[in-house]
Amino acid sequence: MSRISVRDTDLQERFAAIVGEKNAIVEPAQLRTYEADGLAAFRVRPKIVVLPSSTEDVCAVVRLARALEMPIVPRGAGTGLSGGALPIEGGIVVGLARMNRILDVDLPNQRMRVQPGVVNLDVSKRIATMGYYYAPDPSSQSVCTIGGNVAENSGGAHCLKYGFTVHHVTAVRLVTDEGEVMDIGSPIADPPGYDLLSVIVGSEGMVGIVTEVVVRLLRRPQATRTFFATFPSTDEAGATVSAIVARGIVPAAIEMMDKLAIEAIVAATGLDWPLDVGAALLMEVDGPVAEAEHTAELATACARACGAVEVRTPRDEKERALMWMGRRSAFAAVGRISPQYYVQDGVIPRSRIGLVLREIALLAAREGLRVANVFHAGDGNLHPLVLYDARVPGEEQRAERAGGEILRVCLKYGGSITGEHGVGADKTAYMGEMFTEADLTAMNDVRCAFDPYRAFNPSKVFPTPRLCGDRPGTYVPHPAELSGHAGRG
Ligand SMILES: Cc1cc2nc3c(=O)[nH]c(=O)nc-3n(C[C@H](O)[C@H](O)[C@H](O)COP(=O)(O)OP(=O)(O)OC[C@H]3O[C@@H](n4cnc5c(N)ncnc54)[C@H](O)[C@@H]3O)c2cc1C
Repeated sequence: MSRISVRDTDLQERFAAIVGEKNAIVEPAQLRTYEADGLAAFRVRPKIVVLPSSTEDVCAVVRLARALEMPIVPRGAGTGLSGGALPIEGGIVVGLARMNRILDVDLPNQRMRVQPGVVNLDVSKRIATMGYYYAPDPSSQSVCTIGGNVAENSGGAHCLKYGFTVHHVTAVRLVTDEGEVMDIGSPIADPPGYDLLSVIVGSEGMVGIVTEVVVRLLRRPQATRTFFATFPSTDEAGATVSAIVARGIVPAAIEMMDKLAIEAIVAATGLDWPLDVGAALLMEVDGPVAEAEHTAELATACARACGAVEVRTPRDEKERALMWMGRRSAFAAVGRISPQYYVQDGVIPRSRIGLVLREIALLAAREGLRVANVFHAGDGNLHPLVLYDARVPGEEQRAERAGGEILRVCLKYGGSITGEHGVGADKTAYMGEMFTEADLTAMNDVRCAFDPYRAFNPSKVFPTPRLCGDRPGTYVPHPAELSGHAGRG
């Protein structure tokens, strides 16, 4: 909460002087748009939203917000699913959507410099005719921004073979808590010094505001082979994923959908996918034509050996696009069969997929809830969608409890509480189950090296509010607390 009392109109005027009248929003009706991200169950109205258009604007906005002691929440498209862009009461949201220009395309060096508000898919669209693309492809790629992808280290269907955002960002420009500009990384490969870029990518908007990003561009593979296989249950589908990887094949993508997810997709899209199966895999291999064909043969043989009921290959590009449309529409399709659902995001070793999905089905049955699974199976990155109806007393609480238990199952099998959606405001309570106090302290120290006053996204990620310089043990007030610059809670 801001400690400096400023009237709303004065606040608006002061930020409007930097970003322009219409880009400094204090109207309650307009602020509603920014109250939540994709985790719509959490809502907080910010004091003000500002929409800068340049790095210089962002520097000035940060300096003013710091002078007013306002917590700062950066925001891209607001599609995050862990409450990372959830405003903080009395705070400012810095929306980067207007900073959506592609600044430079350098095809000989396979680089592109973009502003953070550029939509993920627009990067690939810009260079598609030249035979290049940007590999990380979150299912939300037609709306989410590169800045949000950097903050979340986003993944996607094709990250199994090509890597996550962290593997495709070579430099960023960051506005610090002092409102200064820091360039980290380099457009060239392997610059000397500590790899601070890997600290920034995945930092969930807690170390500064990213205002430029240099991304790596890839050549489109010569050939892609896609196939869709159905199975009696998730056991055989899970076994297929392990068998394919054990054969030494690295598919471009292996996505799994269970029975409920298939039913929802078919109902929403009218696709002719069979309904009398327990699971389906949508798989893709790519590379030079000979390699793609050879690995496609091996992979389909694995699927059949593991008990596939049917293996379909698309007749043409249109049919392939339809298969992917089915997969990408899964979240929306599930939204049509349930008033609400909670998207969980955990990771398990891929060899445990069948086992873990059975445990999830059991715990869902115990809570009297349905769970649909649709996920990046090759990475073992589960997305159980826990269906509930908030109008039924106690059902939302049971869904939340089931979501938490799912994470515990992931941890039990050596996995993680998040694969790609981040910790944000949603999973802070589980951080202590995954990390020791010493781990958390080390992480907090890294964050504090960038943002000692916790100006950016305070109250996110860490299970208990931590000040910079805090040590576990008997409570001793931090100097910043004594001077009234920071508080607990
Ligand atoms: C239907 C659907 C499907 C999805 N599928 C996937 C998927 O396959 N893979 C995946 O990884 N995610 C997926 N997501 C989650 C989400 O789209 C990603 O996390 C995405 O990267 C968020 O981008 P955004 O622009 O919406 O960021 P926001 O939601 O606005 O912000 C996300 C975080 O980034 C921070 N942030 C945003 N911009 C900046 C910046 N410029 N500088 C510093 N911090 C910043 C925010 O403070 C917040 O912590 C999906 C979401 C939906 C709704």
